[in-house]
Amino acid sequence: MLTVNAIAATSATAPLTKTTIERRDLGANDVLIEVKYSGVCHSDIHTVREDWGPVTYPQVVGHEIVGIVAEVGSDVSRHRVGDRVGVGCMVNSCRECENCLAGEEQYCLKGNIGTYAAVDRDGTITQGGYSTHVVVTEDFVLRVPEAIPFEKAAPLLCAGITTYSPLKHWNAGPGKKVAVVGMGGLGHMAVKLAVALGAEVTVLSQSLSKQDDGLAFGAEHYYATSDRETFTALRGTFDLIINTVSASIDINAYLSLLRLDGTLVNVGAPSEPLPVRAFSLIGARRSFAGSNIGGIRQTQEMLDFCAEHNIAPETELISADYINDAYERVLASDVRYRFVIDIATLV
Ligand code: NAP
Ligand code: ZN
Ligand code: ZN
Repeated sequence: MLTVNAIAATSATAPLTKTTIERRDLGANDVLIEVKYSGVCHSDIHTVREDWGPVTYPQVVGHEIVGIVAEVGSDVSRHRVGDRVGVGCMVNSCRECENCLAGEEQYCLKGNIGTYAAVDRDGTITQGGYSTHVVVTEDFVLRVPEAIPFEKAAPLLCAGITTYSPLKHWNAGPGKKVAVVGMGGLGHMAVKLAVALGAEVTVLSQSLSKQDDGLAFGAEHYYATSDRETFTALRGTFDLIINTVSASIDINAYLSLLRLDGTLVNVGAPSEPLPVRAFSLIGARRSFAGSNIGGIRQTQEMLDFCAEHNIAPETELISADYINDAYERVLASDVRYRFVIDIATLV
């Protein structure tokens, strides 16, 4: 066992605090990663505050992890000591169900093993990336291309793949009109990736306060959803809408913005329901869909795509001590556009 420094939640209401946790001894297929940077996803906040259900405390979250391989198990062939690597939202799956065999481990029929707050093979609760080291089985460790600045790479492991996957699945590309609802961590990556895929991108944000940024990320249009006129002007416009909002919104209003056969994909994961009226769908053969992160193969494809297209998240590097302030700022939609913990401040 390796005792390592970490930042943990001790209850749904207490501030996160520094602590130590144990990492398992290296198995034959395991990789020990010295974590360098760890992104702060809104899912981390949903989890520690028990928005999605009960949590066993203390709980370390963080599933946007990049670091350097420090040690490898005897049978490891995919990674070497010194490699730049990443770990996203899952650390294992059954590997034999039809979804795993199709490379869609996130939809493992036995349930993928989440990077944190999940029951691991050995019965322990998984602990995430707000820590100095992680031990992960090699097949769930990604290569981070040199072309991506390391301190910016971490958010790709969740925000990047979670938006890339539905954009690819629903064929965002030339000739397609794509809207992104909410321009936070996921939303700003959805904009950059949809632009790089060749789509015509519109941002639908609560206000126009981030308009200059959205246009700089390559969006052609930017509208405030607080202005009801937006919903009249854009009725029947989009082929694809990616909703990244962390709270419950009026989905029917957004469905009305889809053209014939358009799809609204929900990646935002509020704890409250999102009620849909039948007539919002049947009037234009519309679809309301969801999407969960992305498989390991596609996550590598996304990292390579970002390297090739010079795409990186906009990040604000923070010290470990700032984590509770960062959470409050995420909750207030005051993030430009992802907080990343400099793990050097945790040692
Ligand atoms: P985030 O950085 O907080 O961004 C969410 C954005 O939604 C905010 O920046 C804001 O954008 C908008 N927003 C927030 N509250 C709102 C409200 N009450 N009404 C309207 N708009 C609001 O969060 P994130 O890290 O991108 O995560 C977003 C959601 O995706 C979370 O629920 C998270 O758990 C979920 N998620 C899902 C997956 C998946 O696999 N499906 C993966 C990762 C995260 P504007 O200021 O532009 O309006
Ligand atoms: Zn996440
Ligand atoms: Zn499986």
